[in-house]
Formats: sequence, C-alpha cells, structure tokens
Amino acid sequence: MFQIKKITTPAKAYLNQLFEIEPTFERFNQKNDIFNRSMWDDKIDPKNFYVSYDITNYKPKKSKGFDHWDYALRNASWHLTDVVGEMTFPETGRVEGFTDYYTTQTAGPPAKAALPSVGETTHRVKKAAEMLGAGMVGICELDDRWVYSHNFSRKTQAPKKLDLPQNISHAILLILPMDYELSKTIPSALGGSTTGLGYASSLNVATGLAQFITNLGFEAIASLNDTAQSIPMAIQAGLGEYGRNGLLITPKYGPNVRIAKVFTDLPLVPDQPIEFGVKQFCESCRKCADSCPVKAIAQGAATNTPPNFSSHSFIKKWTVNAEKCFKFWVGMNTDCAICIRVCPYNKDYKKWWNRLGIRLANSPLRRWMLWLDDRLNFGQRQSAKWWWA
Ligand code: SF4
Ligand code: SF4
Repeated sequence: MFQIKKITTPAKAYLNQLFEIEPTFERFNQKNDIFNRSMWDDKIDPKNFYVSYDITNYKPKKSKGFDHWDYALRNASWHLTDVVGEMTFPETGRVEGFTDYYTTQTAGPPAKAALPSVGETTHRVKKAAEMLGAGMVGICELDDRWVYSHNFSRKTQAPKKLDLPQNISHAILLILPMDYELSKTIPSALGGSTTGLGYASSLNVATGLAQFITNLGFEAIASLNDTAQSIPMAIQAGLGEYGRNGLLITPKYGPNVRIAKVFTDLPLVPDQPIEFGVKQFCESCRKCADSCPVKAIAQGAATNTPPNFSSHSFIKKWTVNAEKCFKFWVGMNTDCAICIRVCPYNKDYKKWWNRLGIRLANSPLRRWMLWLDDRLNFGQRQSAKWWWA
C-alpha cells in the first residue's frame, strides 16, 4: 500500500478547513439535484434518458457499445435496484435508494444484544460489512450539515420533510468498487452496466448491514443517494479524498466506486479523515477536465461559487457543472463516467506497478507519473467488442 496520512484534527474541523465552509452554510435541498430538477425544471429536459432504461423503449445507435446486447446488459444491471427502489412507490410515493431511504427491513428482536466494548463493536460491524461485500468501510459521527434540508417527492414534484430519527448518532459509510474492465468502455450503454451493478451491490450490502444491526436490536437505516450527501461523509469517515472530478477518490479503487451508507444509533468509534496526495496531484493533473466532452469540469482552482444551483454553495471546492454533464448523458441515453475512466487513480491496484504509480503520485515525482500515465495509454477507451471478447 502507498503512504496514507491519518489526519489528527477532529473530523468535523478538518472538513471546515478543507472546504473552507462558510459560517452562513445552509444544507442542500435534494429538490435541486440535477436528477430531481429534470422532474420539475423545464430547463432540464431528460428526453428519452430514463425511459431507455426500460428495454421496450431502447434505441440502438450506430456508435459501438450501444447495440441491443449492450442495452440488454445495462438495463439488467439496474433491474434489482429499480424493482426494490420503486416497490412502495404506488402507495407511498417513495423512491427508495434515490429520494428516500430503504424500508425493506423486518422488525428487530424485543431485546437488544449485549455489546462488547465500543472498539470491539466497531470491529464486528466493519467485519460484517466486508463479509456482505463492502470493499471499504468507514464510520463518522452524524454531521447534520450533510443531511439534506428536504428530500424530494417524485409523486408530488415537491420538497418533503426528512424523517431521519432523532436518535441516529453515526453513519457507516460503505465503498462498493465498480467493474474496472467495464469502466474502460465508457462512454457506452455497455459501460453503464458498471454503474447499475455498483448500485445493485450497494443495495445488497447496505440493506444487509442495516438488517444485521436491526437484528441486534438497534436502529439502522440503509441509504444510497437519498437523505444525505455521501461524499463529504465518506471523507469524514476516512475513505478517501476529494478530486477535481467532483468525486471521492479512494486509496483502494480510485474514483471507480459507489458509496452507500447506514445510519445507526449503535455506539461506534469514528474514523479519522486521510490524505494520500490527491489534492496536490489534481492541482497538476487536468485529465478529467481535458477529457470531459462538454467541459463540465473546472480547469482552475476550487471556488465557492458553483456554476448553478444543482451544486452546494457555501463550500469551496472543484464543482462539476451538473447541467452540462446531464445534458451530455441525455444526448447519449446513458450515463457518462469519462472522468472516472481517464483518472490516473482509476487503476487495478492488485498489480504492484499500479500501486507504485500511485505512490509516485504522492511524491515530488507526480508530474513524471502523470507523463508516464499518458505514455502508457492508461485511461484509453476500449471498444465494447473488446469487452465482450
Ligand atoms: S460524467 Fe462525463 S460529461 Fe459528466 S463531468 Fe464526467 S466526463 Fe464530463
Ligand atoms: S483526472 Fe486528474 S485532476 Fe481529475 S480527478 Fe483524477 S487525478 Fe484529479
């Protein structure tokens, strides 16, 4: 493993410094995220984007990676998350995993399990999460700043009050690696399968872990993109750093991950944030910004003025222009993650030479590593034919 520095500043204070959080900070309203805006804001037209996830509506394209087989696999990879996510929609209007947390758990026992020390409880919870399939696990105290001010009802097209129980004290952050080989075929309908599969794994691990904690007699709520902003919470929980591409960059899988979370009242030991040179590397590297087809990624320094209201104000960061980004997705009828594919941190870390490369990225030789990354053609797009073969 390469060098990872554990931050000693308390996690909340560290995030204050990292993002220069303004005293006037206000929580983000989920109504304004770009997917929800596409439901109520005429400026954001999803056209056939969502309906193409139903195979009866897909339209094959001439470009490679967009034929019947590619859409068939992409849509299948989303099947489980879609079915479970919309299970209660007709009666309750909930879209679980996207605008609402999951309510799939069965009731816990009448009595709570006896707990060992807080350290041992934390160890067992992390071990259970890994057994269920998490690639990395971190814990943070619940920081209200990252909880949405409101979530959004796709039924009424209006913000709705969040109902996270008052006794929640911690969040367990779960990292689910996405498929590295498939990520090389992005942008394509086939490449979109890695996202669908990432969500299905997130659903499996988060709901499984929530049920485990419920079975111990404690409160646990499984969540994907709903309820709270996952990236700052994952940074607080020591799972990675923030990148120019607006994503969490983890030391184990780079940015090619999904994040899920479980809110709980179980007493746990929080983790400390980490650094392994991402901020300094992103200041030299602009591969994501250069490769983004619609120039949605900032070339310059981090700022506290986002390009539009689909991103959080009051904090200083590199912000992706969500309006430009989503418009490109709509044009392609699938999600894009070129900014993941080309990122020098998107590597197969089982190989020692890739681990060495990232070690160099966190050293004065970072520009040389970047040059080498280009020379070795890392991040080049591969064809769907290559993947199917
Ligand atoms: S997902 Fe694609 S369009 Fe969006 S910011 Fe990344 S590279 Fe640009
Ligand atoms: S591509 Fe380069 S600049 Fe963009 S997030 Fe990755 S390391 Fe940072």
